[in-house]
Parts: sequence; structure tokens; C-alpha cells
Amino acid sequence: MEVELLTIGTELLLGFTIDTNASDIARALASIGARVVRQTTVGDDEAAIGDALREALARTGFVIATGGLGPTRDDVTKQAAARLFNAPLELDERYLEVLRQRFESLGRGPMPAANRSQAEVPRGAVVLKNRWGTAPGLWLEGPPGTVVLLPGVPREMRGLIEHEVVPRLGERMRQLGSPDVVTRSRTLRTTGISESALADRIGDLEDQLAPARLAYLPGFEGVDLRLTVWGLAAAAAEEALDRGAELLRPALGHHLYGEGDADLAAIVLDLLRQRRLSLAVAESCTGGLLSGRLTAVPGSSDVFVGGIVAYSNTIKTAQLGVPADVIASRGAVSEETVRAMARGVMAQLGARAGVAITGIAGPSGGTPEKPVGTVWIAAAVESQERAVQRRFPGDREDVRRRSAQAGLDLLRGLLTTA
Ligand code: AMP
Ligand code: MG
Repeated sequence: MEVELLTIGTELLLGFTIDTNASDIARALASIGARVVRQTTVGDDEAAIGDALREALARTGFVIATGGLGPTRDDVTKQAAARLFNAPLELDERYLEVLRQRFESLGRGPMPAANRSQAEVPRGAVVLKNRWGTAPGLWLEGPPGTVVLLPGVPREMRGLIEHEVVPRLGERMRQLGSPDVVTRSRTLRTTGISESALADRIGDLEDQLAPARLAYLPGFEGVDLRLTVWGLAAAAAEEALDRGAELLRPALGHHLYGEGDADLAAIVLDLLRQRRLSLAVAESCTGGLLSGRLTAVPGSSDVFVGGIVAYSNTIKTAQLGVPADVIASRGAVSEETVRAMARGVMAQLGARAGVAITGIAGPSGGTPEKPVGTVWIAAAVESQERAVQRRFPGDREDVRRRSAQAGLDLLRGLLTTA
């Protein structure tokens, strides 16, 4: 079963709204083995929507569209579909009543006249009840093919996809005798290694991963490796993914920190918890990002005691006890300083583990010896200690977020190999 997605909204083309609907729908369809073969975006323009629907139907015969179902004049998706299917818009009295009751039950007074248009549906369309908002979903079948229209509001779209569209589409696939297949993915999360260095390590294995296909997905937290299989029965899909992951794992070594949506902060907190260790952090260029990562994890309070943002040299000395002459002779971004920051915050906050980060996030402040992106990181666990210098690419945001992740990873290394 092949499906095309059409997301509609001028705000998407202008870049004001990120198209989360397309990715949400694609993932929901993968779970039943329906394959999304193309995604298109058009603005709120009746002719453009009509063209896009016609072209997509000519290719696959099945299109799911979102957006442009609101009650205002800029929303014209329904009109475009009605024209394409030669199905005039007619008032659905039953849905009008549903809408009226919805407004009454929400205590919002009488329904605005504009909402009446949301009960107008192309003749013959199946109305998919929207329990999360006012615009119904519409399922149209006709000579051009099948079009499912869904509202653009992500929460409403997700409700309709899960409760109305996926079950119907699954049923249709069974009726068509489509084999009971799925699209499944497995993600291995790595950090501290570049995409190209990873390719050097695992490039030779890629042929052996078939039928799974491998994607490299670099981000702030590292490079995720995603294995995907299409068109297999669920058990065979899991088996292919297991086999692929087993092939890759040994080659990834200590760079592999987790699978799926594993969060390095949560992993580090668990490692500390197992050893009954408390953690404190000292942050300069990350300004609290590392503390933010840690406290975002539910239950972090039994491990994480706190952090000190020591942005100025004065505070590094006054609050963390970094000797002023060390900062003067070695610099605020140096091995000596970062080690003293880690020891200082552990002593100040009474923690048995610590992480410290100091670096040049840019855009200014770089020198030939210490260019923008130079970051010193230290981790300490009781009497053990490690410090590393990293050179991160990218802008200020990149450097800061990569630094926080690298701080967590240095501590992970100390906890798992020391
Ligand atoms: P609409 O159904 O076109 O009136 O869309 C209502 C709201 O949903 C818009 O203001 C957008 O914020 C949001 N929206 C529309 N399309 C998308 C999309 N593809 N992804 C994420 N949000 C969207
Ligand atoms: Mg819109």
C-alpha cells in the first residue's frame, strides 16, 4: 500500500510553522506497513491544492492531506477536493448538531456563524468525527482515488489519524489482501564520534545489514544510526533489526550509549544511582544547560545536588576556588582551570561526582591557539578524574549543546571504565 502526504498551509511554505504533521503521519502509517512514498506541501490556494491532489492521486491513488479545514476564508482544502471529486459541498445536518452541542457543552455560548461551514461536506464523503476540535476529518472515494482530509492542528490531526484513519486503512489493506507487514526502525545512539569516522568503522558492514537499511542522523547529541526495514511481517522485521543491531554494536564500541530515545543524562544519573553517588556540576560556557539536561530527567533529585554557573573569572575563583593565578597563567579555558572547577564544585556542594565545562562558544572570544569551539571538560568520581579538550564545529548554540552532551559522556566513561 503506497500513500502520498499533502500538507497544506501558507505558514508551512513561509517557514513559520514546522511541518510536524507529515512526520507524525508517516510514523503512524509505518506501524501498519503503509508506505509513504512522497510528501508535498502547498499553500492555502485552491488551484494549487487541486493540482497537488490530482497529481498525487495519479501516482498512488491514496492521499492523506492536512490543513485548510478551518472556518475562515483562507481555508479552502475542502473546496478544492469537492471540485476534484465533482462532489458539491452540502450541509451535514447531523454534524451541524454535533458542532452545536460541542459549543454548548464547552459553555462558549451559541456557535459562531463561521463554524457552520465546517459542517459542509462534499457529497458522499465519510465524516470522521473530531473529538478534539471542530473540523471533521473527511474520507472521499471516487474515480480519482481516495483522499483523506484532516485538520491541520497537530493534536486534532493525531487524534484522527490514530482513532479513525489507521484502523480504516488497516482494514482496507486486509481486504485488499495486503500481506500483514510493517515498517519498523531501530535507533542506536552514538556520541563523541563524527559521521565520517563512524562510516569508516561500519561502512563495510552496511551490505550485511540487508534487508535493513542504515541512515546516519547527526545532531547535537551525537550521531544516531537508524536501521529500517519495510514490508516484512512483524517477527521477521524484529529479527532483521536484531541482527543488524548485533552487527553494528561491537564496531561502535564505547561511542554507543543507548538505543531508541535513550537520554544520556538519564543514563548517567542511573549509573550514579547504582553506585550511590551524588553529582554537582560547574558550568561556564554552557550557562546551566547541563543542569537543565539533568533536571529534565524525572527523579534526578536523588542524585543531582546542584550546579554553579561560574561565568566570570571572579566567580570561578570566589565560588569554585579556582586559583586566580591559574586563570591568569593558563587561561579560563584550560585543563588546569576545568579540573579545579570540578574539584571546587564537588567540595562546595558536597558531592562525590562532578562535571565542569569551560569553553569558547563564540562568535567572539576565539584566538589562534584557542579558536571558537574550544572547550575543556572535566569529570571526577571520588579520587578519579579525567579532563579532555574538544573542538566543536558550529555556532554558539551548537557548541553549547554539544558541550553539555560531552560533559555527560565524559562522566559516563569514568563511571563505566574506571
Ligand atoms: P488549519 O487546519 O490549516 O487551519 O491549521 C490550523 C493550525 O494547525 C495552523 O495554525 C498551524 O499552526 C497548524 N498546522 C497546520 N498544518 C500543520 C502541519 N503540517 N504541521 C504542524 N502544524 C500545522
Ligand atoms: Mg491553515
